[in-house]
This record gives sequence, structure tokens and C-alpha cells, in this order.
Amino acid sequence: MSEQKCLSCQGELEYAGGNMYARCKSCNSMFMNMNNVLTPYPVDEATRPMIEQALGFAPSASAVVKPVAPKSCMICSTDFEVVEKDDSVFTRCPRCGALSQVQGAGGLVPINVTPPGGGWNPKFQAMFEKELGFTYKERKMPIGIPE
Ligand SMILES: [Zn+2]
Ligand SMILES: [Zn+2]
Repeated sequence: MSEQKCLSCQGELEYAGGNMYARCKSCNSMFMNMNNVLTPYPVDEATRPMIEQALGFAPSASAVVKPVAPKSCMICSTDFEVVEKDDSVFTRCPRCGALSQVQGAGGLVPINVTPPGGGWNPKFQAMFEKELGFTYKERKMPIGIPE
């Protein structure tokens, strides 16, 4: 097969579906490959991962919706501290201590840290948060109580 390049950016292509479909490794443009002629195959970003999988491609990383952290705490309206770790985004409220993982655009899933033996353990909490990427900070008050 002759060397083909992305029609949009001249990037390298990868193929699926018995070379029937091509995707650019650089810009993710999709093409139909008929008799070595590339025809652009526009896909909607919302359905892209499903289409890519249906055609035999691994879903492109850029299709993953990056979590978007809300700006401030719902409990006490204080601006969040935000850290990113791998593909995850975490928020910590500097006032009430609410610790959450961001899901999608603005969704928060609370993270309840249970220390060995249970109860409230500021050192364990601070260490856990440091592992996520926050600055080490021992709270005086348990999570949920503004300090
Ligand atoms: Zn391209
Ligand atoms: Zn708060």
C-alpha cells in the first residue's frame, strides 16, 4: 500500500477495518480509504468514541472529556484548590475541607477518607491529600466544618 498522509495535516495515519478506514495520529481526522483514495469522513465529537470503536480503532484520547472543576465549594462558597493527577481532577476546599473527584463538567464525587481505626485523623487526611497532589495541610477541624 502506498504511503498515505492525513489530508488535513499530513500526519501519519493508522488503519482499521481491513484498511477501509484511516485515522490521523496527529489531528484525529477520519477518512474512508477506497482503492487507496482517502475520502474525509467527518464524525461528530460527541459520537466519535463510539464510531471509532465500531470501526475498530481504539477510542482517541482527545475524545475523552476532560473533567472541569467547579470554581468554588457548594458548602461554604470558598474557592477550591484544584489538582490534576493523571486523567483525574480533584478539588479541595481550603475552608471546610471538602475533598472531591471531579466528574465530567462540574460534577463532584466526594472522597471520604477513612483512616485506619476510623474516626478523624488530620495527619492521615493530610497525607492522603498530599498523595493526590495537594499541599500537605493538617486541618484543625474535621471535614465539613469550616475553620
Ligand atoms: Zn491530521
Ligand atoms: Zn467548603
